[in-house]
Amino acid sequence: MKPLALFGGTFDPIHIGHLSVAWEASELLDAEVRLMPANVPPHRPAPTASATQRVEMLRAALRGQSRLTLDTRELERSGPSYTYDTLEELRREAGERPLVLLLGADAFAGLRSWHRWRELFNVTHIGVINRPGIDACVPAEVERAVAARRTDDPEVIRSQAAGKVIELAVTPLEVSATRIRELLAAGRDPRYLLPAGLFDDAALLAPYRAP
Ligand code: ATP
Repeated sequence: MKPLALFGGTFDPIHIGHLSVAWEASELLDAEVRLMPANVPPHRPAPTASATQRVEMLRAALRGQSRLTLDTRELERSGPSYTYDTLEELRREAGERPLVLLLGADAFAGLRSWHRWRELFNVTHIGVINRPGIDACVPAEVERAVAARRTDDPEVIRSQAAGKVIELAVTPLEVSATRIRELLAAGRDPRYLLPAGLFDDAALLAPYRAP
């Protein structure tokens, strides 16, 4: 069955790193990929752009194709959501359809700090995306928990609903939203690190430009 893959993030702003890896993950798994912007918990630094502005940028970035779609359910809830709860809700909607949580290697290395992380495998597979320029050493506790779940065969992902971990070798692009925010704040114009749609309307990038 065609898997449904979820790619969560702050997307502050969405950049070509996100889009390119989501696209390639979709090709490698033959999956529909939904980008899912997150509410940021109060103890973390607030995103520069508001939730509404981040969604507007996502909509502009995704225009003109249908492989990558947008899922705003986490923003529609009042507070921040736990990934586990979101995936459990999606599991109820998806029936037996395979679900894949896509994580950059840095996010996967930090899995241990997530609410109910061991139970994630009851509801989803995890697709780990390589990310250059980031020291993402998987802690021994996480490796022990996932060792028996690893597969390198996308067919295994397609044939069961949840429970596996697959490494997805995508084209490495060393791009981060942090770097893009720095460039925009310094008055630079990182035109080719951002999807073209973000330049269609000057208001979209205004939150990041110096006043
Ligand atoms: P920031 O610099 O603000 O922390 P970011 O560029 O890391 O932002 P996020 O929205 O935090 O972007 O990331 C969402 C997801 O995308 C995470 O799983 C992250 O690991 C992954 N990701 C972001 N950029 C890349 C990239 N260039 N290559 C692979 N994965 C990426």
